[in-house]
Amino acid sequence: MGSSLTMYISLVATSGVFSLFLFLYAYTKRAEMPGARTFMLYMIAQSIYIFSVAFQMVSSSLDEIMRWTIIQYIGMAPSPALGLMVVLQYIGKPVTRKMGTALFVIPAVSIIMVATNGYHHLFYKAVTVRHGSSLPYTDIVIGQFYVLSGIFTFGSMLAGVIVLARRWRHTKQNYKRQLATLITGQFLPIVAAFVYLMGLIPNGMDPVPVVICITSSMYIWAIVSTQMLTIVPIAKEMIFESMDEGVVVLDNANRLIDFNGAASRMLPPLGDGMIGLSLDEAWIRMTGSAFPLGGMSGIVQGELRWSNPNGELSYYQVRASVVRGRIGEIVGNLLMLIDVTEARRLRDQLEQLAYHDGLTKLLNRTSFFQRGKRLLNDTRINGAAASVVLFDIDYFKRINDTYGHETGDFAIKHVAAVVSRQLPPEALFARYGGEEFVICLPAGRSEAGRLAEAARAALAAEPLRANGESIVITASFGVSQSAEFDGESLPMLLKNADMALYEAKRGGRNLVRLFEEAVTV
Ligand code: GH3
Ligand code: MG
Ligand code: MG
Repeated sequence: MGSSLTMYISLVATSGVFSLFLFLYAYTKRAEMPGARTFMLYMIAQSIYIFSVAFQMVSSSLDEIMRWTIIQYIGMAPSPALGLMVVLQYIGKPVTRKMGTALFVIPAVSIIMVATNGYHHLFYKAVTVRHGSSLPYTDIVIGQFYVLSGIFTFGSMLAGVIVLARRWRHTKQNYKRQLATLITGQFLPIVAAFVYLMGLIPNGMDPVPVVICITSSMYIWAIVSTQMLTIVPIAKEMIFESMDEGVVVLDNANRLIDFNGAASRMLPPLGDGMIGLSLDEAWIRMTGSAFPLGGMSGIVQGELRWSNPNGELSYYQVRASVVRGRIGEIVGNLLMLIDVTEARRLRDQLEQLAYHDGLTKLLNRTSFFQRGKRLLNDTRINGAAASVVLFDIDYFKRINDTYGHETGDFAIKHVAAVVSRQLPPEALFARYGGEEFVICLPAGRSEAGRLAEAARAALAAEPLRANGESIVITASFGVSQSAEFDGESLPMLLKNADMALYEAKRGGRNLVRLFEEAVTV
C-alpha cells in the first residue's frame, strides 16, 4: 500500500470520526438544539459514507469494492438532502413533511440502482481495476442513473449555498461568522466533487471525504466558539424581525446597537448607518431634535409622537427595559415601540364625541359648564374679569320653514364658523341649545361687547349660500360680566346674559345688549 493511500485512508477515517463526534454532540444537546434529529441523521449518513470509502480503499477484490459502494451510497445519497434540511432549519424555514419526503425520492432510487447495478448496469456501465495499477484504484464508466444522482447531489448542495448566501445581507454582523461557516461547509464539498469529476485529482481518489474533515472541524469550532446550532441565531433573528413591535437595542451608554424591521418601518429614517450613534444623535439626525422621552435617569416610558414625511402622524407607546448581563450587571436598554395610533385616534374620537357638539364641532353644553367654571375660577384668582356672551339666531323658525330643516342645520354650522373666526383663542365657544350659542372669555364687559358686536356684524355681512340662494342670517346678543373679586357663578352670569339677549330681541333683533344696560333700561 502506497504512503499516499495510507495518508488518504487516515484522513478519511479522521473525517469519519469528526462526523461521529458531531453526531454524538447533537445527541447530547438534542433537547436544546432545534432540528437536532435532522442534524444527527445528516452526521450518521455522512459517517456511513466516509467510513465505507475508507473500507473500499482497503478492499482486496472488485466485488468487495462494489459491496462497500452500496453502503457508501446508503450514506452519501441522502446526505445532500439532509444538509439542505439542516440549512433550512437554521434559517428558520423547516421543510414540510411532503417536501422532506420528496427530497429523498432520488436518493432512495440511487441506492436501489447501485445495489442492483449488476442486473441492469444503469448506474455504472462498467467498473474495472485501473489500467496499469492495482486495487483499490478503479475506473468506472458512468450510466444514466449516475448522472441523475450527481445532478441531484450538486443541486441540493448548491441550493443550500444559495439559501444561505441570500441571508447574508439580512444577517447582523455578529452572526455572519456562523453563516460564513455554514456556507463554506456547503460549498467546499461541491468544489471538491467538481474537481474530482473533472478528473483533476491525479490518482483518482475522492477528495470529498477529506474535505468533510475540514468542514466538520469548522463546524466543531463554530459550535464551540459561537454556539452555532444550539441557539440557532438566524431563526431567532427571524422572530426578532417578524415582531409587530418595534425593538431598539441600546448599549449601556445608550448607543444604538440593533433594531428590528418593525422599528425601521415605524421610524423610516432609522438605518444601519446609525448603529453606534447615541440615541439622541440618531434622533437629531432623524427629526432635528433630541429623543423626547430621555430623562436624567435614562429612558422614560411614554407616548412618542412621530410625524411621517407625508405629514401623517403616528403615536408609539414606548416601553423601556434594562438588559442585564450574566452576573446581573446592566449591559444596555431595550426600547419596545408599540403602535397606538389607532387607539389614540379612537380616544380622540371618543373625546370629540363626549365634549363636542356633533353638528358644529363646538364645545357641548356639558363641557362648556366644566371649562367655563374653571375659567371663572382662574380669572377670580387673578383678580380679573370674565364675561359671557349668549346669542340666538333671529327668526330661525322661518329658515327651517322656508328652506327646510337641512338648510336650517347648514345655517347653524355657518353661524358657528363665522363667529369662531371673530374669537380670540382663549375664548370658550359652545353650542348652548338648538340655535343658541354661548361664549365665555377672560375679558371685561366692554371688550366682550365689542367682540359680540364684531360677531354680529360679521354674521350680517356674510350670508349663508344654500340652495343657490344667499340667505342673510342675523343673531341677537346678550353680554354679562362677572363682578371683579366676586364669586359670581356661571349660572348667574348666563341668566344675566339671557336677560340682555331678551332685550336685544325685544329691541328689534340683530343687536348686542349688555346686561347692565338691560337692567337699567
Ligand atoms: P327668534 O328670533 O325669536 O329667536 O325667533 P326664532 O324663530 O329663532 O325662535 P326660536 O329661537 O324659539 O326658534 C327655535 C327653533 O329652532 C325651533 C326649532 O325648530 C329650531 N331648531 C332648534 N334646533 C335645531 C336644529 O338643530 N336644527 C334645525 N334645523 N332647527 C333647529
Ligand atoms: Mg332660540
Ligand atoms: Mg331664535
